[in-house]
Amino acid sequence: MIVCAASNNAGKLKELRRILERMGHKVKSLRELGITLDPEETGTTFAENARIKAEAFCKASGLPTVADDSGLCTDALNGAPGVYSARYAGHHGDDDANNEKLLREMADVPEGQRGARFVSAVCFMLPDGRALEVEGECPGRIAFSLQNGDYGFGYDPLFIPDAYGTPDGCRPNTEGRSYAQLTPAEKDAISHRGRAMEKLEEKLPGYYQKALEELQHSADEMTFNANGEQLRIKYQDILYMESRQRVMRLFTLTDTRSRGYFYASMEDTEKQLAPVGFLRVQRSYLVNMTHIQKLNYDKVILTVGTELPVSQKMYSSIKAKYLRWRNRQ
Ligand code: IMP
Repeated sequence: MIVCAASNNAGKLKELRRILERMGHKVKSLRELGITLDPEETGTTFAENARIKAEAFCKASGLPTVADDSGLCTDALNGAPGVYSARYAGHHGDDDANNEKLLREMADVPEGQRGARFVSAVCFMLPDGRALEVEGECPGRIAFSLQNGDYGFGYDPLFIPDAYGTPDGCRPNTEGRSYAQLTPAEKDAISHRGRAMEKLEEKLPGYYQKALEELQHSADEMTFNANGEQLRIKYQDILYMESRQRVMRLFTLTDTRSRGYFYASMEDTEKQLAPVGFLRVQRSYLVNMTHIQKLNYDKVILTVGTELPVSQKMYSSIKAKYLRWRNRQ
């Protein structure tokens, strides 16, 4: 599946990308999609903020979207910095200032009382608004000074996880290595984000299948304007289909004249809707759609131009692509 990895934080994006790619997805970053939004994180929990971000970026990208909201919660400071991790010292994303402030606030906290955990709430959202939410945690403690390493971002140099990953699982972190001193594989196996994504990986196939089945039965209605004629369309099915760099959204439509239609449109990374075919069940036609305006994810207004016959070859090729995709699911 092509997935939008929705983070403006370079460190987080790198981790999301490598985990999602390992899961077999093709990842599009906000930058690759030309999306420059920065939604306000007004939630009071990680889960609320993850949902706010997933929703905003899913709307903007039109792609299944994964957003993470995460942070560090310390026992000695009653859970701070918590949901305010990114802006703990005042400026959003100033890692050095955040680390300095945390060291200052914890300066008098003795060994044994420096327990902390990283939390990651991950929200996977489909363009029709349904969401799958998971959470992961990683327990550890806060170091007395920066423990820099070759990796990491944010609070990584200050966080000593209780364990780290090995090729066969994980082992206790007896050497007291910080997150920043772990390799990507050592971190991903035990990290808050890695654990949340592991849960996502477990739940996603069943969830996605169920979502598709529900969509096939929901049959919302849309209005469709063909040559000035108002048609009422049953919107029965949205499927995502990979075709080179593009995501193909397929709609199974029925019009008021109760003929079965099969309309396929392609949505490219610039969010342009480009029609590739409008096929009747018995015979096939390509409709030259002169104007397509996307209103939101389940309503599309189409102004349709002249109908042109498509060759049997083109019809077969579109159908074959669809069937190949369907069989893969
Ligand atoms: P968010 O983008 O609002 O979720 O901000 C999360 C903040 O928590 C980031 O700015 C980092 O400071 C911190 N953070 C989250 N995950 C990690 C991590 O894996 N390592 C280090 N810091 C992290």
